[in-house]
Amino acid sequence: MTASANSSARFLIVGPQGSGKGTQGVLVAEAFGVPSISTGDVFRENISGGTELGKRVQSIVEAGDLVPDELTCELVRDRLSQSDAAGGFLLDGFPRNRGQVDDLADFLASRGEALDAVIELSVPRDESIARLRGRAIEQGRTDDTEEVIANRLAIYERETAPILDVYRGQGLVVDIDGVGTLDEVTARIFAALAARGLSASHDGGNGAAA
Ligand code: AMP
Repeated sequence: MTASANSSARFLIVGPQGSGKGTQGVLVAEAFGVPSISTGDVFRENISGGTELGKRVQSIVEAGDLVPDELTCELVRDRLSQSDAAGGFLLDGFPRNRGQVDDLADFLASRGEALDAVIELSVPRDESIARLRGRAIEQGRTDDTEEVIANRLAIYERETAPILDVYRGQGLVVDIDGVGTLDEVTARIFAALAARGLSASHDGGNGAAA
């Protein structure tokens, strides 16, 4: 029905920390030939690069708190305005609260664009804590300490999980069981998107779609 049925792939991936959303998000984005944009990665890169933005957000990110909406929304608007995001994108870690949901909606509406799906990756709390502890040992992320993990999960449950109701009301949520091997979860995501008519048909570039 829509004129651009094959060229539009505007996705969000939402899930608690430790749900595997970063890894799965990259795979989905690659298959659809759209950039994967992780606000957490952008903040971490700026912190390690010692940029002005990095200095402003460092203590916030290290405490596991949310960076102010003003800063985060502007960053996302700038990124989505770049040419590689014109045909679609996958946002990982944004929006994270109601203000960001509204900002994204306004931005997309101003461009005559709309989301195609919101991928919700569900994992039980115990499982995400166990995975985050594992990652803390492997990667040594400064925001993967016991105290900060608890804070980040609490913020997720209080501020981020409720935004899924908004998207559910719009019929956009694709609920995926995030427990299983990486490949199993990836297969579930592709099957669920395909069931909504969203196929990973990207065969340009390196022909990544299987
Ligand atoms: P993540 O890698 O997505 O867990 O993000 C790491 C950290 O970056 C978060 O704990 C926040 O401090 C910050 N951050 C990432 N995305 C956002 C966002 N959408 N809004 C506010 N802060 C964010």
